[in-house]
Amino acid sequence: MIEKTADVIEKEYILKVIDRCDSCGSQALVLVKGFNGKLMFCGHHYAKHEKALEKFAYETIDEREKIIQNKLIGSSN
Ligand SMILES: [Zn+2]
Repeated sequence: MIEKTADVIEKEYILKVIDRCDSCGSQALVLVKGFNGKLMFCGHHYAKHEKALEKFAYETIDEREKIIQNKLIGSSN
C-alpha cells in the first residue's frame, strides 16, 4: 500500500522552463491547443489574449500556479 499525505502531492507539469511565451519570450505558463496548432504564453500575455483564445482553443492548460510555487521556493533560500 502506498500512503499519501496531503502536503507532499507533486503535480506534474507539461510546460517546462525552456518553453517560452510566443509573444515575449518569458517562461510559458499557459499552453493553448487550437485546431491550427499550439500556442504558449506567459501569464501576462495569456491574460491579454484570453478572450481571443477562447475561440481558437479546444484545450487550455493553465499552469500559472507554478509562479506562486517558485516564489515560495525562492523565498526560503
Ligand atoms: Zn509573454
